[in-house]
Order: sequence, then structure tokens, then C-alpha cells
Amino acid sequence: MRQKLWEIQPGEKKTGFLKAGDSGYELPVTVICGGEGKTALVTAGIHNAEYVGIQAAMELARELQPEMLQGTVVIVPLVNVSGFSRRTMSMVYEDGKNLNREFPGRADGTAAEQICHAMSAELLERADYYIDLHSGDGYEEMHPYAYYVGPVEAQVRELSFQMARRVRVNYLVESQCTTKGAYNYASASGIPSVLIERGGLGVWSREEVDLDKEDVRRILAFLEILKEKPEEPQAAGEQLVFRQVIYEHAPETGCWYPACHAGDFFRKGEILGEIRDYFGNTVYSCKALADGMILYQTASLAVLKDGPMTAYGVLPEQKKTEGETLPE
Ligand SMILES: [Zn+2]
Repeated sequence: MRQKLWEIQPGEKKTGFLKAGDSGYELPVTVICGGEGKTALVTAGIHNAEYVGIQAAMELARELQPEMLQGTVVIVPLVNVSGFSRRTMSMVYEDGKNLNREFPGRADGTAAEQICHAMSAELLERADYYIDLHSGDGYEEMHPYAYYVGPVEAQVRELSFQMARRVRVNYLVESQCTTKGAYNYASASGIPSVLIERGGLGVWSREEVDLDKEDVRRILAFLEILKEKPEEPQAAGEQLVFRQVIYEHAPETGCWYPACHAGDFFRKGEILGEIRDYFGNTVYSCKALADGMILYQTASLAVLKDGPMTAYGVLPEQKKTEGETLPE
């Protein structure tokens, strides 16, 4: 199947499955070849409860046709297949691992490690560009934004940033992490990459799916793979770049009462939420360590010790309206 999938001629579109070692995993893959040119990889469902990206990628895989492309688009709409079919949150069912912490994986590792290895060796190896679609997890509410990686080769960072600029969101995050995550590993390996975050809470809407699809198309047009006139990005002043994100994990298991919503701004020292015990006593208050904006947060009543609680972008010293968003 593998050979058949990659033995593709200009004008062809193929679907098939990519085996991940002996893990039993088979990832659904669509390859659309418009002719000579660059290859873009689009993945979703690295976290299986993040449905907006999964649905968007499935629709794109059906809608994109060879005649619409110069170059090739490879789409994997669902990476964590067993998590999806068992409706876990986002961990791999067999080993409880988070795929986005295991790249580049190992050929002889656990299920998650073998999936990451198959993605690195078979998919990223063939990719010139990479777009990864995510959402908040099944228990998280999120404000849409996009990531690119900062501390990589200057050319890779600049192109990744330009790809992120095509995503119709008001916030970008320049990640400082170059390992373990799919797009982080790809960026560090020289592949310009972005991760788009939209949706959450284990649901999806037509509007969000259409926005994800539009973002992917805008990036593919910018990369001159999709034969559409590239649209101009939003004005730089409309996209604020966070270079620091604080990821707060819960110090206790209990009931979580967030004080704000995703997308809300707050000042340093404000209480972002409380954990209470089953008698209603406050056992922990989460205090903002800096002025910032909530990117995503746990929205379920249950919060788990050492699990995600809230994540916020730290505002630059002074929130500027112009010029600030371009990396130097
Ligand atoms: Zn995710």
C-alpha cells in the first residue's frame, strides 16, 4: 500500500493507509498530485478529540483535486485513530501517551512512538511545508490562534511566520520549543510549519470547519501550491504575537472555577480561577503571573492534578497596535 500511495503521477489523487510499524495503526492518507512542485503535508487528529481540524482535513481531502494544484498535497485527517474510535480525550489508547510529546518517535517503541516514527520517516520526510490542525481538548475552551516556532533557522522561521500570517486569527504564538511536538520537530528539521488552533470542548461547527479550510487554502495559495491568487495577510497590527505563554497545571485534583473566558485579558495578580474541594472549600487560587490573555483553559468542572488548567499569552511590556507583531 505504501509504495502504491507514493507512486503517484501528476493529475492523480490516491487514498490509502500508512502502517505505523507493528503497532496495528493505519493512518488514512490522501495524496493529491498536481504536477512538479513542492509538497505540503496537512495533518489533524494528533489529538483525537479535536474535531474541527479533523473534519476540515477530511473535507479538504475530498475537495482538493489535482487540477487545482501545482505540486502535491498530502492529507492525514486523523492520526490518533484508536483514540478517536474509543473516544478517549487526546491520548493514544494503547500507551496513554500524547503524540505531540513523542516526535520523532522510535521504530521499535510503543504505539505512540511508532506512529510518530511513521509520520517522521514517511510523511515529514517527503514534506516541504507542514500544517497541523488542532483545537482545545475535549474539556478545553479556546480562543483561535496559530503557532510557529521561533528558535530555528532564520529562513524557516520567517517562512513559518509568513504562513501563520495567512491564518485568519488575531493572535499568533511564537513557540520557543524545538522538540517533541510534530510541528516543532518539523521546524527544527528545516520544514516551515504552522499549527492552527481553533475550536474545543469536543464539538465542531460548520463555521469553524470552514475557517480552518479557508486558512489551509490561504496558506497553500501563499506557498504557490494551490493555484489561487494568494490573498494579502491581515494588517500586522491586527495580529498580536505572543513570545511567552504560561501553561498553568493544576496542583490538585478537584473542581475548577475559572474566573474568565478564553480570549479575555487580565492584569498581573488577578485571580484566573480557583480549585475547590467537594465541600466547596477553596484549596487553590490561580494568580496571573503577568498581564496576559487566556488562549485556552479547562472548562470542565473536573480538573486533574498535574493536568492542564489554563494557558495564557503574556502581553508584551506595552500592548502596541502597530509594527509590534513582526519578529525582528
Ligand atoms: Zn492538540
